[in-house]
Amino acid sequence: MENGIDGKVVAITGASSGIGEATALLLAKRGAKVVLGARRSDRLAALSDRIKAMGGEAAYILTDVKRKSDLLGLVELACARYGKLDVIINNAGMSQLSRIDDIDVDGWEEMIDVNLKGVLYGIAAALPVFRQQGSGHIINIMSTSGIKIVPMQGVYAGTKNAVRTVSEALRQESRGQWRVTGISPGFVQTELADHMKDPHIKAAIAKNMETLAISPDAIARAVAFAIEQPASVEVGDIVIRPTAQD
Ligand code: NDP
Repeated sequence: MENGIDGKVVAITGASSGIGEATALLLAKRGAKVVLGARRSDRLAALSDRIKAMGGEAAYILTDVKRKSDLLGLVELACARYGKLDVIINNAGMSQLSRIDDIDVDGWEEMIDVNLKGVLYGIAAALPVFRQQGSGHIINIMSTSGIKIVPMQGVYAGTKNAVRTVSEALRQESRGQWRVTGISPGFVQTELADHMKDPHIKAAIAKNMETLAISPDAIARAVAFAIEQPASVEVGDIVIRPTAQD
């Protein structure tokens, strides 16, 4: 089954739900060996079992992207189990929406730690392997929040835009050694809003999730598209949102 994905080793952060889980399933169905990271290891175990029951290959490790050493562990597992790392998908993320003048400093710090520093730690863990191999692919999950700036999403959008900036610099620095893809989803039906503290914002987002949001499979297909291209072809930025999203 030569499809540009079969046999590739793909590490995914935030694989325990939503976009990460859907992506792991799709890539495994297409023959990738997926290495799953997140904090809820019971969910990772269940996903890994599901993939194996389908005849796929999966391994998992508890990965909190706030810890540099956990990202190193994720990459090490890929290399130890499967002998290489072809792709890292920096997907783990969280959103704690609020007005900036609500001064939710803890929420800001958590978004910066997970959405920005977590991505940087993933890049830091993968690049030495990619450099040694002379190839690799970094896929960063960003957001349409970083494209259309609206109130309540300032710091979240800021973290996602910072990832966009990092991705573009990394692309230019690659000199053909690795590919970089940034994917910006719009509203997607996931658990992202479940952890929000402000009940009004949480309810508004939950309503959008019900009425507007698209399936995480749509994002998984975009990830697969970027991976399956020939090595000489780099897919840069992809924006995927519900047709009805403003
Ligand atoms: P989910 O809440 O369903 O998934 C988020 C994932 O991130 C979970 O697997 C969670 O796993 C993981 N995660 C959160 N914090 C950490 C952490 N500290 N360390 C490791 N993993 C962590 O939401 P989505 O699937 O929607 O989110 C995936 C990505 O998509 C995020 O980057 C998000 O910002 C982005 N996105 C989502 C949109 C949407 O509308 N849903 C729109 C645009 C972008 P666990 O708790 O087990 O650690």
